[in-house]
Amino acid sequence: MIPTIDKILSFIPNITEKDKALIEKAYNFAKKAHEGQLRKNGDPYFIHVVSTAQNLADLGMSPTVIAAGLLHDVIEDTNITEDELKKEFGEEIANLVEGVTKLGMVRYKGIERNVENLRKFFISVAKDLRVLVIKLADRLHNIETLENVRPDKQKRIALETLEIYVPLANRLSMGRLKGKLEDGAFKFAYPKEYEEVKKLLSDKKDARIKYLIEIKNKIEEKVKESNIKNATIDYRQKHLYSLWKKLQKNDMDITKIYDIIALRVMVESVVDCYHILGLIHGEWTPVPNRIKDYIATPKANGYQSLHTTIFTGTGGIAEIQIRTYEMHEKAENGIAAHFLYKEKNEKSVPRHLEWVQQLHELNQNKEDPEKFLKSIKMDFFNNRVFVFTPKGDIIDLPEDSSVIDFAYAIHTDVGDHAQGSKINGKNSALSTKLKNNDIVEIHTNKNSKPSAKWLDYAKTSLARKRIHAHMKSNSLLSKFLSFGNN
Ligand code: MN
Repeated sequence: MIPTIDKILSFIPNITEKDKALIEKAYNFAKKAHEGQLRKNGDPYFIHVVSTAQNLADLGMSPTVIAAGLLHDVIEDTNITEDELKKEFGEEIANLVEGVTKLGMVRYKGIERNVENLRKFFISVAKDLRVLVIKLADRLHNIETLENVRPDKQKRIALETLEIYVPLANRLSMGRLKGKLEDGAFKFAYPKEYEEVKKLLSDKKDARIKYLIEIKNKIEEKVKESNIKNATIDYRQKHLYSLWKKLQKNDMDITKIYDIIALRVMVESVVDCYHILGLIHGEWTPVPNRIKDYIATPKANGYQSLHTTIFTGTGGIAEIQIRTYEMHEKAENGIAAHFLYKEKNEKSVPRHLEWVQQLHELNQNKEDPEKFLKSIKMDFFNNRVFVFTPKGDIIDLPEDSSVIDFAYAIHTDVGDHAQGSKINGKNSALSTKLKNNDIVEIHTNKNSKPSAKWLDYAKTSLARKRIHAHMKSNSLLSKFLSFGNN
């Protein structure tokens, strides 16, 4: 059964005639181009491109991107050329499809052997994030239909999804898509572990839900008594894959994991979020050190919410997450939520995604692939720390970064002339490792210069590159000078 065009259109509120015509044109064009092609299970290939477009519509992407989703495989899999596409649909859509086609060349064979393709992958990504969103929507349908693929291929695609696509979805704060990709891939990448976690989760599931409903009812009562309007309370179960990750850190002991099912309270305003937190802490004792205010200090991918864990009074422990509807939308759909019908600004990068820009810049000069891969791994896949300038600007750095990395992240001049620093008001060495929420102030001196010693603790590729460049020009200079002296 081929999904109908109406299904796609139903995701777009107040669609204009022009947009509708564009999507219809792309639909019919793709249908004709893929005519006669079949997928492994005998389904028409066209189902795959319509499903991809439907995923994009579901993410709230614009008609332009949805049209590109319908056309995403015509260059690679049919005899349509990029020029024809440009003539029919214009430069923008043709460029998007071309970007997706390039990403299609990426084949995961274990990261190290795949550097060259990874590079292409990232260059396209940094150029236009929409290409990546289309690729993620495409991958989602491939994962959802993975049982039709040869077993050895299944494993490769599943691992590639977990190693490359999932971190990307996470960095784009696309929580819903990330969860679907993870659970779809988990089964094929680690079948034994998947079954194990599934079983752990289903044990005592009913008991877990029963007592959460009791807490939910009590919160609902409290909300009714207050003057908070339009609150929604529900619960979500942790995705299997993220549960597995957490179990690994906790000796596979499921009783140590408090957020298997978490209650989720959604309200209209930030003020209401803190009000709800107060109501909850008035009723139950919070577990110490487990209150997290991601509203005031968002996670590296922009995630915002209040988290608290409470003693339920009946021997149990429960996690509650409180957020506004807007924060919820951004956590679920991330970058796609930013794109929502802002066609003109679609390419502008929100502040918390500036790393994409940095990645692109890093890519401009052709370093050798090994080095490039190392810097990608370093900056991209590792965890991040969030620190602040004295003015309250948030700087996003890889874990284990030091003050000198911070200085270079502010400005290359600040890095080049850094002399000392204060962290949270205390004098600190440039080698000090930064922790989340540190407030960092850099003291510069125009006579200060980068020192080779900095390389011992500079972590970011940006800082290391600048320091190396300085060392190089310095040694050239001294050679030149010594030559002059002879
Ligand atoms: Mn495809």
